[in-house]
Amino acid sequence: MSSTTSSQPYTHEDLSRWLACSRRFWLQRHVEPSSEALLMQGAASGKGLDASPAAQDQALRATFPQAIVIDTPQSETDWLQAIARTHAVLAEGWLAGVREDEGRAILGACLESNEGVRVRVDVLAAGPYGLRLFKVRYATVGDERDVDMVALWTHVAARNGLRVQSAGLMLVDTDFVYPGLGCYAGLFREVELMPVLGSRSVPDWLVAMRACERDTEPAPPDEAPCHTPSPCAFVRHCGQLEAGHGRKDPADLDLVGRELAGELRELGHISVRTVSLDELPDERRRRAVRAVQQGRPIMEPEVADLIATMAYPRYALRIDTIGFALPSWPGTRPYQIMPFQWTCDVEQPDGRLSHHAFLATQQGDPRRAFALSLIEVLGTTGPIFAYNAGFERNRLRELATAFDDLASALEALQPRIVDLFQVARAHYYHPDMCGSWSFKSIVHALAPETRADQFDWQGITEAQEAFALSLQGVLGQAQLDSLRQALLAYGQRQTTALRGFVRRFSEARTKP
Ligand code: SF4
Repeated sequence: MSSTTSSQPYTHEDLSRWLACSRRFWLQRHVEPSSEALLMQGAASGKGLDASPAAQDQALRATFPQAIVIDTPQSETDWLQAIARTHAVLAEGWLAGVREDEGRAILGACLESNEGVRVRVDVLAAGPYGLRLFKVRYATVGDERDVDMVALWTHVAARNGLRVQSAGLMLVDTDFVYPGLGCYAGLFREVELMPVLGSRSVPDWLVAMRACERDTEPAPPDEAPCHTPSPCAFVRHCGQLEAGHGRKDPADLDLVGRELAGELRELGHISVRTVSLDELPDERRRRAVRAVQQGRPIMEPEVADLIATMAYPRYALRIDTIGFALPSWPGTRPYQIMPFQWTCDVEQPDGRLSHHAFLATQQGDPRRAFALSLIEVLGTTGPIFAYNAGFERNRLRELATAFDDLASALEALQPRIVDLFQVARAHYYHPDMCGSWSFKSIVHALAPETRADQFDWQGITEAQEAFALSLQGVLGQAQLDSLRQALLAYGQRQTTALRGFVRRFSEARTKP
């Protein structure tokens, strides 16, 4: 990293960095981050690809049909033009003396204060007694950082002589039902923040930021957020790389549960290695501690008998869901859990295997087609293996509630579901699981060759994020086909892993 001193105006990002960690703020102002740091920053900010910027723009315009949009400045020249344009629009009286319901606003109003602070306000709208200022959050609740940002924006607006009547957040209203055709009017609910902004002393913050910037590099504060909510761009500079990536200790006392771990600590234990099996209340915890003490996985042989009782055909099922802040399909609500993909392997008594899958497209609410195709593949007999099957059960219940005519067929699937999570917990433990029974942990322990916990399509590592992208209409056909193939292959790896668990349980008498 090379050292420079920035003469750039402060932005809300500078304030966020300073509030989170003064060292991060200082480094950003003084040091040119390495390309690696910039990459980490990019990876951190690329999360949350839920609705496309175009769809978000459409939602805001539905709320403010007469809005003037000022594009996000990309350069110093852009900033100067955007600030000039904002002032010109205000000077024309665009937001003066108009009713709220006329939907007039400036989206992306750019302002600069004479203290050297620049902000781009999400919404500056007309109100009966002055301006209404909003930060837009595609979330159901705001947080302290939102209040900080609104405080900064309000301060800069006041320094520009603007009369701000109210300042707050526009949050997603979960009661909203999307009627379709891009009609997002009513999506947002407003939360007034003016009464709490007094607790934020923005002038004091700015003075302290200047002092911090002029001083030498600060020490890392206690509890610096080096890895939350995403890795800081300076973790390598600060030597914090390992702190957030350290492996859990397989012998950690918390393995037996927090409460019991506390009691064992009081008795002088610092790891489960010294704990006597007699001190543990049930077989599941005794098995886990035995596995750690013996340094090997333990699988109870009876699990093979349990699996042997299960008839054919056998089904392995995974369901994937998504919850959009901005509903994509008519008749659905924000954050409604929408099943978009199922994958199912069917194994016959003679070993024949068939693979089946459903993956939603842009064409309307997929739930009925999802349910119909699933009912057809699952038939009427045979165990349906799932992991943490409460999730699959709940999705089937929701579909049964949504479609009366399919309810009996969907409800008939419930008793056939075999939860491999319960089977595993009652018969198995691997020290590498470190007390975690997540799908990822069990895949690592029982079917690592499947890589069923890993999704990667052109750097997107979350299947939901990839699926959301597939709906946005921004990909060419070849890209879209490639992304859909990646999602289908991911589902296939998951059901292969489920079958792998069952096979390993079946082999319990021959190997652990
Ligand atoms: S790595 Fe941690 S201590 Fe260093 S700048 Fe980032 S948040 Fe602050």
